Amino acid sequence: MELLYFVDGLKYNLIDDNMPFLATLNKKRLKSEFGYSCACHATMYTGRYPEEHNTWFVWKRGNNSPYKFVNMIPLLKYVNIIPMKVVLSRVARKLNKNTSFAGIPMLVNLPLKYWGEFEPCEDVLWTDDKYLGNIETIFKIMKKSGLKYQLVGLDKKSGFIEEAQETAIESNKNFYYFFIGELDDYLHKYGDKSDEVKGLLKRIDNMIKRHYEQARKITPDLTLICYSDHGHINVTEKIDINEYFEQKNRNVNVYLNLIESTFARFWVKNGQERKDVLECLNLLEDKGWGFVLTKEHFDKYHLNFDNNEHGDIIFHLNSPRIFINTIWGFGMTIKSMHGYVPELDEHVGVFLSNEEIKDVASVRLVDILPTVLKAAGYKNEDGSLVGTVLIE
Ligand SMILES: [Zn+2]
Repeated sequence: MELLYFVDGLKYNLIDDNMPFLATLNKKRLKSEFGYSCACHATMYTGRYPEEHNTWFVWKRGNNSPYKFVNMIPLLKYVNIIPMKVVLSRVARKLNKNTSFAGIPMLVNLPLKYWGEFEPCEDVLWTDDKYLGNIETIFKIMKKSGLKYQLVGLDKKSGFIEEAQETAIESNKNFYYFFIGELDDYLHKYGDKSDEVKGLLKRIDNMIKRHYEQARKITPDLTLICYSDHGHINVTEKIDINEYFEQKNRNVNVYLNLIESTFARFWVKNGQERKDVLECLNLLEDKGWGFVLTKEHFDKYHLNFDNNEHGDIIFHLNSPRIFINTIWGFGMTIKSMHGYVPELDEHVGVFLSNEEIKDVASVRLVDILPTVLKAAGYKNEDGSLVGTVLIE
């Protein structure tokens, strides 16, 4: 039997002091993708890097925007007030069937004139047979394999941890996957030193221990794996990108952009626009606060896409900073963030098991699929997978 726990945002450095049961397991550092959870999930469920599954951010530029209708109503795109944006995003969710984890979010601080330019990278939930078209996923393989499995928490019916806590381990299953999504939200909101986060870590630890003991009574042949997608870094400085455009007498929203906490992406019409945007971003770069991604980064982090739908110019803001006034919100209450360079110590996620873990420098998210399938008893014959089986 295999018990698999995904804990969003669980950082390596939190285990020893806060999770006494998990601390007794074998433990390895896990290197995230250079992106957010959206990229991480696609990688861990396919065993392929972003340049292969093409899912980097929640939003990309595309012709199938759920917000196309905004452009069809005259003058609507000039009504840039939040209540109108709330209504429009509700309408988009009604008009478009999108069952993905992120769904169709409101683009909070993006001017409405740009909304129709962007579409979500994902239309359906990770477990859907249609997820990423022909690319095999852990869930498609599980379904075909005849293994008896149960997925808990992925459909967000109730709180992830509530659903996991209510699940009893039964002898008629080979594999359980528990998706614990709350920790990431708690870390963003409260930071890793907070009582809220410490309390949640304890709850998660207790629950896994209880499941493990239940399962042990059923079978001695038990593999427990608990892993995360990234760590978290406390934020100490908040930056409004437009201030740096204003220093050059420009406005960031003259250019087609998507601003997120640690990435600012631009799609430019011509060389002049490119020059203008780069000149403003250079002000941040000169302070040592970030950098425009180059071929070196695209190679290193497997982000060589064959089109510009993720951006023509992609700027990364270094930790411990975030951009405020993003597509996600105003950022005033954010205490902790991820989506930084994956090698940073506090950004490192974790991979834990009761079994011996192969001696690798750090676990990669592409290793998850082959490892999890092997532990569930599935013999994988797909030679195109680059990941390492971590538990023999
Ligand atoms: Zn995450």
